[in-house]
Amino acid sequence: MSKKKETIIVMSAHSDDFVIGAGGTIAEYVKEGKKVISIVFSYGEKSHPWLKEKVVQKFRAEETKNAAKALGCEVIIYDLKEGKFYEEYQEKKTEIAFLELLNNEKPTKIFTHSNEDPHPDHRIVHKITLELYKKLKQKPELYIYSIWNPVSFKTRHPKLYVNITGSYKEKIKSLNAFPSQRYNAIYPLFILILFRAIKDGYRMKGAKFGESFYRIK
Ligand SMILES: [Zn+2]
Repeated sequence: MSKKKETIIVMSAHSDDFVIGAGGTIAEYVKEGKKVISIVFSYGEKSHPWLKEKVVQKFRAEETKNAAKALGCEVIIYDLKEGKFYEEYQEKKTEIAFLELLNNEKPTKIFTHSNEDPHPDHRIVHKITLELYKKLKQKPELYIYSIWNPVSFKTRHPKLYVNITGSYKEKIKSLNAFPSQRYNAIYPLFILILFRAIKDGYRMKGAKFGESFYRIK
C-alpha cells in the first residue's frame, strides 16, 4: 500500500477567500506533493443581486473550480446562505459532513479565517472551525489567514511564513479565474495582496513574495 499523501484543509467563507488568503501557500504545498482541499461555505450569491441566485451559483461554481485548478487543489462548495452561515450550518447538519470529511482526511494543517476579520461571515467560519477542531479525533495544526483585517494581529501566536516566490504566478492566475468578482472585490484587493506578499517575502531571506499565518492551535 502506498503511503497516504499529507492532507491540508483550507476553510473559506466565500469562493475567493482561500485564494486571497492562502493561494500561494496552497500552490506551494501542492508542488511539494501534498493534497490540499479548499472548503467553500457559500457560492457568494449575494455578490450580484440583480441576477437570479441559481445563475450566480452556476458561474461562481465554475469560477471557483477554475481557481482551484490554477492552484492544483481540490475544492468542495457548500450552499450556505451568506449572512446566515451559523443557522444554516446547524439546520443543514453540515457539521456531520465536515466532521466525516476531516476525520477521513486526517489533515496535518487546517487554515481558516481570523476572528479579527471585520466580515461577519469570515468570523463565523473561524468559530465553526474551532468547534470542529474540538471534536476532531486527530488534532492538526490550526492556522489563521487574513482577508480584511489589518496586517498586524493583536496576538502573540507564533507566525508561519511561507515563501511563495515560485507560486505567486499561480496565485494571480487563480485570482483571475474570478471575472465576475473583478470589479467589486478583487481589484481593490490586488494592491493589498501585492503589498502583503512583498512584506511577508521581505521577512524571509531570499524570498520575493510570501504569505504569513498565525498558528492558534
Ligand atoms: Zn469572504
